[in-house]
Amino acid sequence: MSSTDYVQITKDEFDEFVADELPREFEEKEWNWTQEAVYDCELPRGEHTFVLRIWSSVDVRDGYGRKKGGDAIRVQCLVVDEDKGPGSWKPIVHHSQLPDDCGSHIKRTDGWKDRVKRHLIALESIVGGEQYQECIWCDRPMIVRTNKSTGDEFFGCSGFPDCRHTEAING
Ligand SMILES: [Zn+2]
Repeated sequence: MSSTDYVQITKDEFDEFVADELPREFEEKEWNWTQEAVYDCELPRGEHTFVLRIWSSVDVRDGYGRKKGGDAIRVQCLVVDEDKGPGSWKPIVHHSQLPDDCGSHIKRTDGWKDRVKRHLIALESIVGGEQYQECIWCDRPMIVRTNKSTGDEFFGCSGFPDCRHTEAING
């Protein structure tokens, strides 16, 4: 098998990976709007709580990975979007801030476990490091937003619409 071949991942295998191989405790979430197994870990930092979220790409209905095409594993660091209220989470880390080998999607090929781990470490170091930004006006976390007319992404204050501060993303 070459390193670019797609590998099948079962729900059991993913559960085991999350429970045994990650340094932090993740909890499986159940939502009615997705059939994908999703795992969250709360990360309190100062006065804010962030969430590391893993989208497994495994379908909870049959316990197998989704078919090729809709199959990438994704890992995000989120904070509550005050615009939409509790339960609405928005990413604070743009994929351009991650190391080259991380990217925004983790391919389901050999070595996926190591890539998920590296990705989580990178996200966590951003939250605790210089690349993480709080709003210069109100101290709330800056989050990744998309301009609806142009599709461009930018950092906007999570306190929108109370606070309308924005900054460009410098890849
Ligand atoms: Zn603000």
